[in-house]
Amino acid sequence: MEQAIEQKTPTADLLKKRPLIISGPCSAETEEQVMQTAMRLAATGKVDILRAGIWKPRTRPGSFEGIGTKGLPWLQQARKASGLPVAVEVATGKQVEDALHFDVDVLWIGARTTVNPFSVQEVADALRGVDVPVLIKNPINPDLELWIGAMERVQKAGIKDVGLIHRGFSSYGNTEYRNAPMWHLAIEMKRRYPELLMINDPSHICGRRDILQEVAQTAIDLDFDGLIVESHIDPDNAWSDAKQQITPEVLGEMISNIRWRTEDS
Ligand code: PEP
Ligand code: MN
Repeated sequence: MEQAIEQKTPTADLLKKRPLIISGPCSAETEEQVMQTAMRLAATGKVDILRAGIWKPRTRPGSFEGIGTKGLPWLQQARKASGLPVAVEVATGKQVEDALHFDVDVLWIGARTTVNPFSVQEVADALRGVDVPVLIKNPINPDLELWIGAMERVQKAGIKDVGLIHRGFSSYGNTEYRNAPMWHLAIEMKRRYPELLMINDPSHICGRRDILQEVAQTAIDLDFDGLIVESHIDPDNAWSDAKQQITPEVLGEMISNIRWRTEDS
């Protein structure tokens, strides 16, 4: 990167809140959808950071692969109007540069990228000299070394605020979960790296709405630091991950219904 990116929000505090709640659509779809989601999430008073996928790594071609850079100004406007910092998934160096150019506050590395050391290294190289928090999802397969390797590459690039997202692990065939939680793997990561933020992504674990609440509760009972949950103004008609998204208001109720640890409540 040629120049330091101007930071609009102090980055140091962005991941400090407990519980940390991140929510927003799987994908940014339209300007109106992004703005309405942000305003309705902000109105719940339960959300700390707005998430939205701009570049969507789909396992197979033929479905929506993200609105692309065109959606970044929509996030910038939603950020300004709602006051919520925004988080975006990045998988290439160019995506890092574009996201930071449009004031994205938090970056995350997706499960399909964490499995590829070349891609992670490219992202890490683009982060050199930049002060931005980076969250790293577990790889799609249950391999802690890949997860740790991605974390180390980002840390070696100089990123101080690194956090982890547990989004479950894929397996062959239909199971109760879209991605099996394999809680013991996340717990092992928490044991090895107690200083790192660990949040849970019940949306991609469940793949459906009806068990989101219980998975989120399990994560909190296991002492996770927070949640990242997908929400959409019209979940059934979402352009990606329609089955697992909930409205901002349902998200607000879900967060209210969680039994928090006493120090969080
Ligand atoms: C997402 O967060 O929308 C996503 C693509 O998640 P994952 O990388 O966990 O599959
Ligand atoms: Mn998704």
